[in-house]
Amino acid sequence: ASRKGILVKGSNYLDVLAKVGTVVFDKTGTLTHGQFEVTAVHLEKCDEQHLLHLAAHVEHFSTHPIGAALRDAFPDEATDGCKISDVEEIAGQGIKAKVEDWTVCVGNTKLMDSIGIEWHDCEHVGTIIHVAIDGEYAGHIVINDKIKDDSAEAIQALESLGVNRIVMLTGDRAAVGKDVAQKLGLTEYHVELMPADKVQHVERLLAEKQEGKYLAFVGDGINDAPVLARADIGIAMGGLGSDAAIEAADVVLMDDKPSKIALAIKIARRTLCIAKQNVWFAIGVKIAVLVLAAFGIATMWMAVFADVGVTVLAVLNAMRALHVRG
Ligand code: ADP
Ligand code: MG
Repeated sequence: ASRKGILVKGSNYLDVLAKVGTVVFDKTGTLTHGQFEVTAVHLEKCDEQHLLHLAAHVEHFSTHPIGAALRDAFPDEATDGCKISDVEEIAGQGIKAKVEDWTVCVGNTKLMDSIGIEWHDCEHVGTIIHVAIDGEYAGHIVINDKIKDDSAEAIQALESLGVNRIVMLTGDRAAVGKDVAQKLGLTEYHVELMPADKVQHVERLLAEKQEGKYLAFVGDGINDAPVLARADIGIAMGGLGSDAAIEAADVVLMDDKPSKIALAIKIARRTLCIAKQNVWFAIGVKIAVLVLAAFGIATMWMAVFADVGVTVLAVLNAMRALHVRG
């Protein structure tokens, strides 16, 4: 698995991977690239450069894909030496910070509601990032993300492996969530979730899963760490993922490709199958020789084969696990 860019943090997780029946995906950074581009800026109070300037500074320390997009939209951010202080990142909502003497809040409608700012809706399709400066609504920035090339393929591969329930959870707006789910052929998706809501959905899905089957959660952000830990098996994106997500996960996909999940399941099933073959083979031969010995027909060489011979054959058989196609 390591050779294919799949880091499995323990052999017990292979056991669980082989029996996955439900896969729950996060959207941003997991099914989509998480590389947003600013497509529009709608202003209420200040001018565009000022808004982008403040938004970029607030996101200075952010590891969220949205933060990177806002920094890219104002390239001078790193060099103009503005002072940033009192940064507070609220998972699933956005960021508050002080830039020079301005108090700036950048985030979604939930953040605006929580600080009591009246916001304006936007008719554009995309993720809307609202900005408030010194307690007044300043405008919003529309950003857009692209679905990963192999996301659709990943979902089909999981279905063909017998994973019977695939769900998408996202903290993003309903319009964006619906658009992505439709493009990927997902029928079950839930939108506008806070990290705690994601845990609740996963709890529900854990209660509803089939006997003997397990639930996998695939995510990338700090907001996903609680669910990654709660799921039977947590899978994180290693390239784009936040440290917290990678730490909380049991399996890490080094190249961020969701199609690797199906491959990981294939590797796990094959490994488990070989392990079972070896167990039955070893016990079978030993019992056979034991029975022969009880009737006095076993020879010393048969006993040696039942012990060392079987071990060598089992090791050779196990080496087949090194070759998995795909
Ligand atoms: P997802 O579940 O799709 O990965 P998140 O839970 O990370 O999304 O984020 C949910 C929403 O919270 C985003 O769509 C955005 O509106 C807002 N948000 C989160 N982090 C930030 C940030 N650093 N800057 C601005 N907005 C943010
Ligand atoms: Mg995410």
